[in-house]
Amino acid sequence: MKYKLLGSAMAVLMLLCALGASAVDRDSGANRYHQHLSAPVPREECGCGGEDLCTHLPIIRIETGGQEIPGSIIRDPEDEDVVLGYTTTETGAEEILVSIETVEAEGVWHHASDEADQSGLAWFRIRGNSSRNFPKKNYRIELVADETGTQNLELPLLGMDPDNDWALHGPFLDKTLLRNYVWMNLSAEIMGYAPEVRFCEVLLDGEYIGVYVLMETIKEDEYRVDLSDYEAGAGAYSYLLEMDGVSDAQTPASGVTEAVVESYTWYTNQMEFDEVSTTAFYIRYPHAEDLTEEVIDYIQRDISRIERGLYSSDMVTGRYGYEEEIDVDSFVDYYILQEFLAVNDAFSRSTYLYRDIRGKLNIGPVWDYNNVLNNFFHEFSREGFLLEDRSWYGRLMTDEGFVQRVIARYRQLRQGILSDDYLDAYIDDVVEYLGPAIQRNDEVWGWSYDPDLLEVRQRREPDADETLEDANPHSYEDAVGRMKGYMFSRAEWLDENIQSLYQYCHRSKNAAQWVQ
Ligand SMILES: [Zn+2]
Repeated sequence: MKYKLLGSAMAVLMLLCALGASAVDRDSGANRYHQHLSAPVPREECGCGGEDLCTHLPIIRIETGGQEIPGSIIRDPEDEDVVLGYTTTETGAEEILVSIETVEAEGVWHHASDEADQSGLAWFRIRGNSSRNFPKKNYRIELVADETGTQNLELPLLGMDPDNDWALHGPFLDKTLLRNYVWMNLSAEIMGYAPEVRFCEVLLDGEYIGVYVLMETIKEDEYRVDLSDYEAGAGAYSYLLEMDGVSDAQTPASGVTEAVVESYTWYTNQMEFDEVSTTAFYIRYPHAEDLTEEVIDYIQRDISRIERGLYSSDMVTGRYGYEEEIDVDSFVDYYILQEFLAVNDAFSRSTYLYRDIRGKLNIGPVWDYNNVLNNFFHEFSREGFLLEDRSWYGRLMTDEGFVQRVIARYRQLRQGILSDDYLDAYIDDVVEYLGPAIQRNDEVWGWSYDPDLLEVRQRREPDADETLEDANPHSYEDAVGRMKGYMFSRAEWLDENIQSLYQYCHRSKNAAQWVQ
């Protein structure tokens, strides 16, 4: 097994070299750490006898001291579809203080009872959106220096760069366990930076709760989105935005609690996502305490200038030509990844943009691949484009130059990182690396392969022509097979149809964009 693993690792490395600078030169992608390729697996079998949890993956131990973990969904008893909020502690706190330990020394087996390699206290709660419905929860970790919980503690957890903010992602609807791990890594190879990810196994108050992925969160930081620091009164400011939903109760007129960019698309509702909510740009950097009116105004004017360009009749060569303002490569790569993976939330949720005072507006880093590749609550077609009518992208697609760049980059990536052979081998390697951890995860969560045991929001719903059993995977292998099958099929459709993107830039004056 070890030789085969080494062999395929070499093949991947050779492919990365063969791709050369053109595919991986965007930034730090070439230095990306792929745990399944680089983490040394112990050479000798463990002599522990296997009575304890014994794993080649890092272990994270969390002790709550018996406190209930806040952040569960509170539903309206009158209408189950209405979310009233999230649970808090008895005193109304949204987080609890817990202790966290890791067992992660390289090249040795890890056991539930091993001495900790790193430890600290942390604010802890359930995180996520739809994943809060799942029995296997996702958690937010904010490391703190002491029991007052007021001072951040930055630790290099599982070999990632030191920070205090982490997301502990527990794949549940994604029965392959792979989506976030694989696609954060490959997105980093394509786009330069994406949150780092490490597989681990988690013990919560001594109870084994399965395979998790510890992820970097998206924030302004030296090791994450590295922007020039905020300087009060500087007149120009670097910023990081997150696109997320906003309910009717949250419009600027009602006095939103978070800073929303009031730009052209906000006012014209171009970004309407569904009937109950629209999308807004939330300011995530500078931090809330630095968001003076002047800073918010600066960001709003910047975004408005970009939108004025995009929505003008002369968006390419005019005074506000978009290439002067946005990093086109990042918009091209984001487009290709979202279309390739069929991301339901593309350019409406879990979408970030950032601009350093010294540079152009970038889209990224990517976030939340839990539902990609037909792992949504309903069947996702292998056919069609998602982004051609989504606000900014609708406009970009009217420019032949942009469409040309998308098609050329797509064809290039399909010869390398996004080729069937590369993806097939990469996924097989990750599955092989997880090895017996998959079985251990199934011992806790394997019951969920029976969709009859799951509530509506915990499984995929069948289309008209299929049964509940058809719509849901029956085993780990089945889940991986379905993911690969969809991916190859989607890629085949894109290969055959990507050229048709030219229709959007040839449409006469693109009247449909304006009328809708
Ligand atoms: Zn052992």
